[in-house]
Amino acid sequence: MPTILIAEDESAIAQTVLYALRAEGWQAEHVLLGGEVLPRLRQGGIDLVILDVGLPDANGFDVCRALRAESAVPVIFLTARDGEVDRVLGLELGGDDYVPKPFSPRELVARVRARLRRATPVNEGGWRVHGRFGIDEAGHRIRFDERVLDLTRYEYGLLATLLVRPGAVLTRAQLMDRVWGDALDSGDRTVDTHVKTVRAKLREVDGAADPIHTHRGLGYSVDVGTA
Ligand code: CA
Repeated sequence: MPTILIAEDESAIAQTVLYALRAEGWQAEHVLLGGEVLPRLRQGGIDLVILDVGLPDANGFDVCRALRAESAVPVIFLTARDGEVDRVLGLELGGDDYVPKPFSPRELVARVRARLRRATPVNEGGWRVHGRFGIDEAGHRIRFDERVLDLTRYEYGLLATLLVRPGAVLTRAQLMDRVWGDALDSGDRTVDTHVKTVRAKLREVDGAADPIHTHRGLGYSVDVGTA
C-alpha cells in the first residue's frame, strides 16, 4: 500500500487531501513544515511527496532541491500563484508535477495515481532497483551488481542524484546545486573529482564498467544498464 507524505501548512487543505488519499486506500501522513520533510523521508517508506510551495519555514522549491540530492521519490507541487507555476515549468527543479490551488481533491488523486504508476517500486529489502544499480534511500546506500558501494556523503549524493533520472544529463551547476547546496568549501572541480572517485569505486566491482558518462561541455549522466 503506497504511503504519501504531504507538507502543507494550511490545515484545512491538508485535511481535505489526507481524506481524499485515504479514501483511495492509500496511507497518508502530514507535516506542517518544510524542515520536517527530509527527516521523515530518511525514515523510509514514503512513496510520493506532495509539497506545498508556500511553507512557513522554507519554500517548496528549496525543499525539493534538498530532497533531490538524495531521493528519487516522486514530488507533486501544490502551487498558489501563477508565478509559482512559471517557476515549476521554467526551471529544472526535480519536481514531477504540479497542481495549482485551488484544486479538486479528485484531480490531485488522479495525478498521484499517475505518478505512482510510473515510479520504480521499492522491493522487500527497501531497495529501488535501476538496472545494475540499487538504491536504499532510507539507508543512504547504493549498490552496483549487488555489491554495496562504500561511498562518502557527497559521492552518495552525486550518484543518487544521477539515478533520479537514468540517462538524463545533469550539468555541473545542477549537480553542485543539488548535492553541494549546503557546502561552503566547494570549488569548480568538486563535481569532477567526485565523479572520478565514484568511477574508481564502480571499477572495483567491475573493472570494465563505466556507467557514468561524460557529456563534453554539458555534464554527466548515468547508464544503469540491465541487471
Ligand atoms: Ca502554504
